[in-house]
Amino acid sequence: MARRPTKTTTMRRSGPELSIVVPVFNEARSLEKLHGELVALARNLKKTRQMRLEIVYVDDGSRDETYRIASGLQADDVDIQVVALSRNFGKEAALLAGLDHARFGAVVFMDGDGQHPPQMVETLVSRWLDDGYDVVFTAKAHRANEPWLKQMSAKAFYAVLNWNARHEIPKDAGDFRLLSPRAVTALRAMPERNRFLKGMASWIGFRQVRVDYEPAPRAHGASNWGMRSLIGLSIEGLTSFSVAPLRLASLLGVLIAALALIFGFLIVLETVLYGKDVPGYPSLAVGLMVLGGVQLVMIGILGEYIGKLMWETKGRPVYFIAEHRLKTRADAERPAP
Ligand code: UDP
Ligand code: MG
Repeated sequence: MARRPTKTTTMRRSGPELSIVVPVFNEARSLEKLHGELVALARNLKKTRQMRLEIVYVDDGSRDETYRIASGLQADDVDIQVVALSRNFGKEAALLAGLDHARFGAVVFMDGDGQHPPQMVETLVSRWLDDGYDVVFTAKAHRANEPWLKQMSAKAFYAVLNWNARHEIPKDAGDFRLLSPRAVTALRAMPERNRFLKGMASWIGFRQVRVDYEPAPRAHGASNWGMRSLIGLSIEGLTSFSVAPLRLASLLGVLIAALALIFGFLIVLETVLYGKDVPGYPSLAVGLMVLGGVQLVMIGILGEYIGKLMWETKGRPVYFIAEHRLKTRADAERPAP
């Protein structure tokens, strides 16, 4: 497992503390602008709330200049960590790496592509400090500008996910969220390797609140989520957070068996009443194919869960660290060599 930096207790601290975790994958062109905005935010929070801030950039195996640029970022009012993973492990792994390295009590997760407006962090902080919420999550105000297919699949996803669940995962929640220190502690106690932060952050409970926002368009480049990885994440989310698909399979089995019984009864009735004999081979073929298809799908669903068990039992680390830098304010105050 990754090293977790020990807390420095020598420094006297007042006011609340917050780590902002930013996973970045090939975001070289967005990074400087984002950093500027985050530093401005830090300055503001320091003034208005005596808050101490750190930014944890997690470079998820970028193939562009992301790491070099992140390592060169400077600021007086804020501590900076740059954690570089040994390859591209995916956003969920990058978020965990950030969580493992965050040194301050509360944590904000936000994207590095400029879609999550840094000014919003002040709203999140206010809900935490002024209103006492532990998990402040954001949701897109409306998805109207998204393609129809994406909207429909999102709907279906949450319908299955929350079907029969004791604990509902809120619809449309994004990964832009704030967790209070005790929520962070709870999240850290969850050891699973198949990670689905949206679900996990909601599952821990405490006082949760939703804040709507309008995501900005991506600053540069295209989303790293193609339809394929979105489907991947959906299957991941579903199978790691609910056994609803398995239950659906059982229900479908019962339904089909019942239909087959009725059908069989009708055939017997026809033969007895009207003297008709064997209804023929087409109905047989259709019946076989439908059943075969259904069975294959259900075996596939079972396989998803077994595969998940395999990965969990292997117990591999979720990521490896290639480089790690920590720049504290003390460094900034020291004269350059
Ligand atoms: N990201 C990452 N690893 C990946 C893919 C994405 O760390 O393998 C980061 C990416 O740099 C960005 C955030 O995760 O900061 C969200 O990615 P993206 O914008 O592609 O997703 P979307 O906004 O479409 O959900
Ligand atoms: Mg994005």
